[in-house]
Amino acid sequence: MKRSQLSIMNRSFTKLNERRSTLIYNEDTINLKQRVQKIRKNSVEHLHLLLEKAQENLTANGMEVILAKDAEEARESIYQLIKNEDMIAKSKSNTAGEIQLSEYLESRDVEVLETDLGDRIVQFHTSRPTHPIGPACHLNMEKIAEVVSDKFQREVKAEPRAILETVKKDILEKLSQCKVGITGANSVAAEDGSLLMVHNEGNISLLTMLDLHIVLVGIDKLVPTLEDAMSVVKLETIYATGKTVPAYMNVVSSPSKTADIEQILLKDMYGAKRVVLIFLDNGRSRALEEKEECLWCIGCGACIVNCPVYTTLGPDFGYLRHLGGRGIVLSHFIENDEVCYDSGLYQCTLCGLCTVECPLEIPTNNMLEDLRKESVKKGLYLEKHGEIRENIRKRGSSFKQET
Ligand code: SF4
Repeated sequence: MKRSQLSIMNRSFTKLNERRSTLIYNEDTINLKQRVQKIRKNSVEHLHLLLEKAQENLTANGMEVILAKDAEEARESIYQLIKNEDMIAKSKSNTAGEIQLSEYLESRDVEVLETDLGDRIVQFHTSRPTHPIGPACHLNMEKIAEVVSDKFQREVKAEPRAILETVKKDILEKLSQCKVGITGANSVAAEDGSLLMVHNEGNISLLTMLDLHIVLVGIDKLVPTLEDAMSVVKLETIYATGKTVPAYMNVVSSPSKTADIEQILLKDMYGAKRVVLIFLDNGRSRALEEKEECLWCIGCGACIVNCPVYTTLGPDFGYLRHLGGRGIVLSHFIENDEVCYDSGLYQCTLCGLCTVECPLEIPTNNMLEDLRKESVKKGLYLEKHGEIRENIRKRGSSFKQET
C-alpha cells in the first residue's frame, strides 16, 4: 500500500479514536460490553446447537437455508440462485470478501453492483478495503473525485456532495435493473429465526426489496435471541463508528407477506419474494475446536485501528477482508499454515494492543504466538529465526558468529 494512502487511513483512524474516546469508557457502554461478552462467549460455546435451532426457526419463518462447508460451496450455491441474471446488487460484507464472491461472479459474467458508497469507490479504484466499516478510508477526497471522474468520463468536483450524488445516481439507475440483492447479516437470532443487519446509507433496505434476497453469513454470527443480536450490533456500532446507534437496523424474519384480507396469508407484497440464507462454515468449526476465542468477534474493527503493524502495512497485514491479527488467525483455519504465514504470522509484534482495544478482549496475540509454535514445527519460520536457532544449538549462543 502506498505511503500516502497509509497516512490518509491513519488520519481517519485518529478521527475515529477521537470520536469514540469518551463513549467507550462511559458506564452504559461498559455494561453493554460486559453483557455482549457473555452473549458471544455463550453463543460460541453452543454454536452447533444454535445452528440447529436457527435452521429450524428460519425455515419455519419461510426462509430457505443452505449450509456451505467452504467458500467453493457457498459461491456455487449463490451462482445457482442467480445464474440467469446479468447483474446483482450487493452490500458491504466481509464474508462475501472472504469467499471472493465478487471476483467469482464477475469471472462468470455476472456484474456486481456494490451499493455501499465506500465499497463502490473501492470497486472503481480497484484497491483493497482498509476498514470493515469504512472501506475507502485510505483515499482522500481529491483522489476519490479523480477516481469517480475517470469512471464516468467527466469532471466531478472534489466536493463530498458532488461525489455522493454522482455515485448515487449511477447506483440507483443500475439497481432498478437488478432482481437480486446479496447482503451479509451482523447477527442471527437462532430462537427467533431472524436476521439483523445494520447500515447507515439505507442501501440494505433497498436490497431487501428486490425479488430475491440472498444473505451470506458465517455461522459464528449466531446468538440466541433478537435482544442479544440488538446488544451485539449496538456495541459494534459504538466501537466501529463512535456513534451510539446506526441509521438503520433491518430485521428480516421472512419473505414479504400480508394477512390484511380476512387474515388470509398472502406472500409477495413489497419486499423480497424469496429470502435465502447461506450459512458459511469455512473453517469455523475447526476454529471452534482449537481457538474458539477468535469466533467471539463482532466485526467492529477496533483491533486494527491502533495496531502498530496494521497502521504501518495496511491491509497486507491480514487475510482478505479479515484485516489485522485476527484475520491471520482465521486464515489458519480457513486455509492452511502457509497462507497463515504469508498473511503476516511473523509480522505481529505480539504487543497485545488489539486485545486491549477489542470490546470482546479476544487474545489475538496469544493465539498468534501459539500458531507460531505450530508453524515452527512444520518448518515455517523466518530464515533469521532459523539461523538464531542453529547458533544456539551448535554454539550455545544466539549471537555467536562463525569465525
Ligand atoms: S498483538 Fe499483533 S495484531 Fe495485536 S495489536 Fe499488536 S501487532 Fe497488532
